[in-house]
Amino acid sequence: MGTNSMQMRTCLYCKQLKKYNGRIAALSEFDTEHVLMQAFGKFQHNLTLTKDVCKVCNSKFSRELDRAFARDSIEGYLRYVHGVKSGNKIAEFKGQRATVQLMDPISPLNRALVDHRVSNGKLEALLKAQVRIEDASAEGGWKAFTLAEVQHPEFGNLVRRAYKTNSKIQILADTDEEYELLCSALTEHGLQWEDTQTILPFTSPVTLEEFPDETIHRAIAKIAFNYATKNLGAPYMLGDDFDAARNYIMEGVRPQFPIVVPMKKPAFDKSSKFALFLGHILTVNWSMFNECMCLVALVSLFNQRYFRVQLSDNIKGLFMDKKIGHLFEIESNPRQCMELDEDSFNEI
Ligand SMILES: [Zn+2]
Repeated sequence: MGTNSMQMRTCLYCKQLKKYNGRIAALSEFDTEHVLMQAFGKFQHNLTLTKDVCKVCNSKFSRELDRAFARDSIEGYLRYVHGVKSGNKIAEFKGQRATVQLMDPISPLNRALVDHRVSNGKLEALLKAQVRIEDASAEGGWKAFTLAEVQHPEFGNLVRRAYKTNSKIQILADTDEEYELLCSALTEHGLQWEDTQTILPFTSPVTLEEFPDETIHRAIAKIAFNYATKNLGAPYMLGDDFDAARNYIMEGVRPQFPIVVPMKKPAFDKSSKFALFLGHILTVNWSMFNECMCLVALVSLFNQRYFRVQLSDNIKGLFMDKKIGHLFEIESNPRQCMELDEDSFNEI
């Protein structure tokens, strides 16, 4: 009694044979892995892998990949904008792998640093108190420093060492209080500045800039790999054809083929019925690439841009003429995950 629910299974990622006990999770060496991590929303009919990823791999991923992806990527930032995560928690956003800037080439505030606040449940960007110094080598021609940086005792010396004495200095602030603080800090450092008025909260678009980062790409590759496994089965994805992708996700070893390619456009065309869809899109299919038959996935969070994820080089095992896709709707209540039908798939 009870012993028949114990089996040995191979972990999808480390390929080690481990104990699985479906009835008693505590006795099992496997854990539930969400195809798309829950930080990007909880969905009805969500996709999970319940007996394919071992606890060791599962916790390695949450430590090494999932956290960075949720809190330090463009997609991670969009969680706060679209209310998947409360805008009040924006301070959790690290801004190291991806930064948020005001982007308006004709505005004198181009590339100024921004801050956030929540108003009527929506996240709004506002001007961060800052001092900018003219710097031809910096993007947009200015180097920006936050109030905390300006208040640092060494700030004056740093500026004198790094910049010519006649470099323009500008103060940007959207409250009188911040403006006064910046002025007095500059005065204490003995620095002269070009006069600047208090600037009202702006409405110009902010853009996100991302620094290429392997951790983020590995997190994207894992979503694609999980998704392929959910639909094609663990026995298929445990095949050698997918070892290169598996090693990339596990250890960051780059395969010979381009595994994760970010595309600067949404997955659906402007004319598509899904052009305005707000949510996530995952698809997987076999396709010819460089005269090789490869398994290719598409990952798009919040339907902003998409990633093409190549999960194999030339497939030596089986392949089919089959396309699979799911949408994760974040605007519906409750949030839903649903399969894409053949016609909708063709709009991608
Ligand atoms: Zn494992």
